Amino acid sequence: MSNESLNQRRLQATPRGIGVMCGFYAERAENATLWDQDGNEVIDFAAGIAVLNTGHRHPRVVAAIEKQLQAFTHTAYQIVPYESYISLAERINERVPVDGPAKTAFFTTGAEAVENAVKIARAYTRRPGIIAFGGGFHGRTSMTLALTGKVAPYKTGFGPFPGSVFHALYPNQLHGVTTADALKSLERIFKADIAADQVAAIILEPVQGEGGFNIAPPEFIGALRELCDTHGILLIADEVQSGFARTGKLFAMEHYVQKADLITMAKSLAGGMPLSAVAGRADVMDAPAPGGLGGTYAGNPLAVAAAHAVLDVIDDEQLCERARELGMHLVEVLNKARAVCPHIAGVRAQGSMVAVEFNDPQTGEPSAEFTRQVLEYALAEGLLLLSCGVYGNVIRFLYPLTIPQAQFRQALEIIDRALTR
Ligand code: PMP
Repeated sequence: MSNESLNQRRLQATPRGIGVMCGFYAERAENATLWDQDGNEVIDFAAGIAVLNTGHRHPRVVAAIEKQLQAFTHTAYQIVPYESYISLAERINERVPVDGPAKTAFFTTGAEAVENAVKIARAYTRRPGIIAFGGGFHGRTSMTLALTGKVAPYKTGFGPFPGSVFHALYPNQLHGVTTADALKSLERIFKADIAADQVAAIILEPVQGEGGFNIAPPEFIGALRELCDTHGILLIADEVQSGFARTGKLFAMEHYVQKADLITMAKSLAGGMPLSAVAGRADVMDAPAPGGLGGTYAGNPLAVAAAHAVLDVIDDEQLCERARELGMHLVEVLNKARAVCPHIAGVRAQGSMVAVEFNDPQTGEPSAEFTRQVLEYALAEGLLLLSCGVYGNVIRFLYPLTIPQAQFRQALEIIDRALTR
């Protein structure tokens, strides 16, 4: 079975709506390395879209899944519960940065976590409105598409979306949006769209993922918290992409003084197994009545076992520290490349949530074309990178935080060549 013959079969058997980035097919993977059907090897800086902070098949994650596999694989937690779900909730409650005692509920996908955070916020406040941000990404279900602040390709043809959702501006220095502009856009929503006392929650990514790794300035989070407190609005931090050591802390919100009321998480929570969660203030989490939350597979035992191992690995291998270190080295390479690569418009990082943004040096406009060229060059050299950004002109780096030092250095050399060739 070659990559070529699989490509032919894929086009026949699956809809074009499921866009596929790579023309090769996975055969096996280990930590930061992925091998395809034709025996080619790539260094994986996509990591299943930010899922593999602990790498492909971390031995402790694999062992935990294998052990659970021998016990039971599914009971539906709401029918026959199990201890591992409770102890995982306890571990997250201890560490999630919210005020006072916390509670956690598990789901399966990131979108589902966001859906449930919205349900919980509405149940608690008894209000309908939700404010999200331009450039934000929250998932592909109807509600999360309504929240998502990028039309093509996500929303195209799928409306109408659930109502009572409004978009404010996310601060973005490079694109001329100040914190003051962003706050003004919220005031405008309160004037033009919905009264503040009808808003249940403001949801934001502390570092926008798909939107381009844009980092919320501390003064913006401070002002949002104040606004929420003034009007009885809940603050939801969507940490589906930024969580689990990627930014140098377990949660990106730990970089800020202020706390969110609810935090959504998924992706690297379970090292490749489908698991998501909403954690938050216990009083808020308890708003929905019994039976109001859940799902057949929510908190699947294999995924929960994997998540326990992921938390162990993050602590024992000091992955938060490693995220800061690796991020620093990468930023150094990117900043040095600026001297000879006029396309680089910006380099930004919170730990290992690192991105580089490209403009056309002639026009100053976002250059998706140059971004594509860099991705293509890197892949030809054996490095799989991902783009992001509202204009598709940003490259994000999502290497496993467990990547061996020598392999990381090798990847940095490819990145350097791709930018300075
Ligand atoms: N929120 C954020 C911040 C995300 O980055 C994503 C996925 N890219 C989601 C939600 C949706 O997660 P999922 O694809 O698991 O539904």
